[in-house]
Amino acid sequence: MRSSGIPQPKFFRLAIAAAGALLAVASAIAQDLSIREYKPKSTLVVPEHPTPRAKYPVIDIHNHLQNLTIESWKRVVQEMDELNLRVLVNLSGGTGEALAERIAFIKQSDTPDRMVFFATLDFNDLDSPGYGRRAAARLERDLDAGAKGLKIFKNLGLTVRRSNGERVTVDDPELSPVWELCAQRGVPVLIHTGEPAPFFDPVDPRNERWLELQIHPGRRRPPGQFPSFETLVAERNRLFARHAKTTFIAAHMGFHANDLGRLGRLLDERPNVYVETGAILAELGRQPRSARSFFVKYQDRILFGKDAYRAAEYPYFWRVFETADEYFDYYRDYHAFWKLYGLDLPDNVLRSVYFGNALKLVSALDRRAFPATDGDATAAGPGSVLAK
Ligand SMILES: [Zn+2]
Repeated sequence: MRSSGIPQPKFFRLAIAAAGALLAVASAIAQDLSIREYKPKSTLVVPEHPTPRAKYPVIDIHNHLQNLTIESWKRVVQEMDELNLRVLVNLSGGTGEALAERIAFIKQSDTPDRMVFFATLDFNDLDSPGYGRRAAARLERDLDAGAKGLKIFKNLGLTVRRSNGERVTVDDPELSPVWELCAQRGVPVLIHTGEPAPFFDPVDPRNERWLELQIHPGRRRPPGQFPSFETLVAERNRLFARHAKTTFIAAHMGFHANDLGRLGRLLDERPNVYVETGAILAELGRQPRSARSFFVKYQDRILFGKDAYRAAEYPYFWRVFETADEYFDYYRDYHAFWKLYGLDLPDNVLRSVYFGNALKLVSALDRRAFPATDGDATAAGPGSVLAK
């Protein structure tokens, strides 16, 4: 054995082989990394403005809170106070006795003015003649019992069928008495039609919601089982046209938040149509310039909505609407694998979207809890207890 400190060629070869093997293992790990595991940490350093509390009081027009107890309702109101959420419009009110009980529960609570309910339709007796008239009569009772509007779930158009298997279309004429009643009583219809368009498309590498559809295969809407996105949109738009005196709020910005030009054309054509922002924040936050122009132009037609009630998620909405922050995370990474940017909305637009438009559409909300909006001389003044 030599005593020299200089490594032998054989040692070199071994060392190189060992290093090579390590590199191969490392690169195998890198190649095995699934898209779910890849979470690159942004190195971008820019000003950040987390926004835990909305700048103005907010009416959430699209909410689903169920099985409230005295304790859980107290907790929710505490969270609402911290977020500056003033009123939740609960779309999971149901109909009949169940709805009346929910309304009574809130009315008898310490905070009766913090939640209102929309009624829903019961499709159980769809097959007996006269369904539409009966549904309208039930809705009339629900409105008399204190419901402030009607919620139509996505099952209408997607899954509601007559016993002969025939799909009930969104614009089924049978339902006309319901829409007419809403027009007569001056209550809005918040209608959810369809799903994001990619849910109807082949689940292939080009599908923008591929990851979500892998994780939640139940969200797929393959042709054969379901009508197409465009079929549903056409039915919905015919409904809007046919009932011009009924006020409709298209949920989730009508699933056109990724095509604001198209949504703008719909709003231009149909003055009875409004939209709300539930669950589409990631669409707005990836196009801050286009979305900002849209919000400025259609500021009288957009209502704030969140959908699922999770207190920790509201601040993402405030941050997107109120700040000019750049390249920040959304709360659901399979839903938006991209980053969000703030829209930096002007104050008058924020006021309209956060509460002004909802006060216009939903009667009997107490205006005094809200600041005055532009062109609204009576707000916050005496004798202005009831909107409309
Ligand atoms: Zn919803």
